[in-house]
Amino acid sequence: MLVAMSKLGLTRDKMYKTVARQLHGVVPCWMCGEHVAPAEATLEHIQPLSEGGNSHVENLAISHDRCNNLRHAALPATQ
Ligand SMILES: [Zn+2]
Repeated sequence: MLVAMSKLGLTRDKMYKTVARQLHGVVPCWMCGEHVAPAEATLEHIQPLSEGGNSHVENLAISHDRCNNLRHAALPATQ
């Protein structure tokens, strides 16, 4: 689990840098569209793993830590 998480962290950093380079330093949040600072960046699964999504780059997007939490808090399963 620890290995998988650090691997995802590396993917996040790589994606963040790629997007920042493409958009001249701006990394928009996948959820709210606001700029995401490096310290609050999380990797979001566009299609959740629980719904058959994978961890390939095309299924991943940068979002705020808080937006990520909000999304997961809104899932019916947690209510
Ligand atoms: Zn956001």
